[in-house]
Amino acid sequence: MDKPPPPRAALIVHAGAWAIPDDEREAHRAGCTAAIEAGWEVLKTGGRALDAIVTAIRIMEDDFSLNAGRGSVLNLDGRVELDAGIMDGSDLSAGGVAAVTRYKHPIDGAERVRTSRHVLLVGSGADRYLETHGIHPCEPEDLITEREVERLKELLAKGPQKGPGTDFGMDLPGDTVGAVAIDQTGNIAAGASTGGVAGKMPGRMGDTAIPGSGYFADNLAGGVSCTGWGEPILRMGLARRVADLLRDNNATDAAWIAIQELESRFKGKGGVIVIGRDGSIGFSYNTPAMALAYMDEEMEMPFIGGGI
Ligand code: ASP
Repeated sequence: MDKPPPPRAALIVHAGAWAIPDDEREAHRAGCTAAIEAGWEVLKTGGRALDAIVTAIRIMEDDFSLNAGRGSVLNLDGRVELDAGIMDGSDLSAGGVAAVTRYKHPIDGAERVRTSRHVLLVGSGADRYLETHGIHPCEPEDLITEREVERLKELLAKGPQKGPGTDFGMDLPGDTVGAVAIDQTGNIAAGASTGGVAGKMPGRMGDTAIPGSGYFADNLAGGVSCTGWGEPILRMGLARRVADLLRDNNATDAAWIAIQELESRFKGKGGVIVIGRDGSIGFSYNTPAMALAYMDEEMEMPFIGGGI
C-alpha cells in the first residue's frame, strides 16, 4: 500500500470578523501580514505549530489597532478585560485565561495554563497565577487607548446596551485575533485572543477562552479558531462543531456548514479559520468582512484578504 503523503505545513491567522470600515482596512492588512510572516518563519524552519500560533498571536496582540492585548475594547466600567485560549492537537491539552487585566500578551498566559493542571483560570486568580509563573504584568491602564475611550463614550451615548446581537458584525468592532497551524510533523494547534465585545458587562467571558467554542485542535481532525459575537458561539460550541464536521468534509465545507448553522440555528454572527489534518485551509464568515491571511508550502507568498 502507498504511504500517505507527508503533512503539508500551513498557517492561517485572523484579525476579526465585522464590517471593517474602509479607513481601518489598511491596519488590518498590516496586522495580518506581520502575523503570517512571523508565524510562517517558525513553521518553514521546522518549528512547532504551537510556537507558530503563539508567535503570530503575540504580534497581533502588540498591534494597537486590533482588539487583543493593548488597544482592546473597554467594558462598561471603562476597563480592559482580556480572554485568550490555546490548544495542542497532539495531546488535546488546552489552556485559557479570562477577564485578565494586567497582561499585554494573554496568549502567553493561556499557554502557561495549558501546561498546568488546570484548563481555565479567570479574573484575579488568573492575574495572580500568571504573575507568579513568569509572565510580566503591566498596569491595567497601560492596556487602554484613547480610541477605545472615545468608542465607549459613543456606545454609551446610544443608551442602554441590549447586547451585541443586533449590531454585531455591523457597528461593533470585532478585531479579535486568532491562528491555526499544522507543522511539518502533522501536529496541529489553534488559539485566539481578545478584549471581547465593546461595552460588555464586567466579568463577562466570551468564547475566546473556551476550548471547543473559540478554538479547538485535534490532530485526528484539524484546527479551528473563531471570532464574532461570543454568546451564540458559546451556545453552539462552534469550534468543536467545525472539528466534528472535518471528519467528513474538507476545511472549506466544514467552515461553511458551521457558519450556516451559527446563523440559522443560533442567530449568530462571526467567522472561522480552519486547517484540516491534511493541511487544507478553509474559512467562512457571515459578517461583511473578516481580516485573514494564510500561507502553506505550495504558496509563494501569503494570501491576505477576507474583504480587507
Ligand atoms: N468572540 C469575541 C467575544 O465575544 C469577540 C470577537 O471575536 O470579536 O468575546
